[in-house]
Amino acid sequence: MENKIKDYYSKFEDIYNDKNYPKWFQFTNDHNEKFGELGYTCNCRFCPGSRINAKLEHELGHYAILQTPLHEDVKIVTVGNNNSWFDESCGDKALKAVKSLKDDIPTRNFYTEGKSGLSKSLIKAFKAAEASQLLKNNTVGLNRTWLQTGGSSANISKMKEKRLGIPSLVDTCHVWTEEIITIIKPQLVLLLGGEAQKLFNNQKGDAHEKGSFFIQHCRHPSHGGQAEFTKDLKDGLKEYEKRKSRFL
Ligand SMILES: [Zn+2]
Repeated sequence: MENKIKDYYSKFEDIYNDKNYPKWFQFTNDHNEKFGELGYTCNCRFCPGSRINAKLEHELGHYAILQTPLHEDVKIVTVGNNNSWFDESCGDKALKAVKSLKDDIPTRNFYTEGKSGLSKSLIKAFKAAEASQLLKNNTVGLNRTWLQTGGSSANISKMKEKRLGIPSLVDTCHVWTEEIITIIKPQLVLLLGGEAQKLFNNQKGDAHEKGSFFIQHCRHPSHGGQAEFTKDLKDGLKEYEKRKSRFL
């Protein structure tokens, strides 16, 4: 399984270039000019790029496939929409994190480090569902769009560039995310928010042909969705428990 997933790292590296996606690369080059050599701005007051009143932001164009290690026993796969900053307290650390993520399956668990808004939300919701160990040891995370967009998903529209015979970055990530999930064969798939729920043709529950996992649609925890997300997570975990007892 690990090697099959590693293939996606090399496949994506092969297609992700300015020949295939000239407009996207032009956009990121223009966008990134303002960051200069360092590639980020920050106001943590400790890192080299730290300036008073500068908000945390860094260059675009990097990507991340998995956000967690590929655990030995994966029971849950969680899919969100876009990669936000990986460390919301420091631009320097956030940029280093995303740069390290594009090459390989991570050894760090960005879902349990608590450095991003998503991570904090997941820790809180899994704790409320008494499933912290499942999050830590058996949950793999990725996004429907692998290219990082930061705190907003507005730039995703710029990744819809299509050329003859070359699917857009968004469409490629969508299809390959589905394939990665079918390779992992989890028991439960949590799709966070409307965009992620487009995976598997918007199908949910058991009614899909891609495997035996249960698809739980969840409200995204950001923008005031924490309580609803926790409720949806608990519903998904109930299904997972039912399946577990069936296979014992
Ligand atoms: Zn900083």
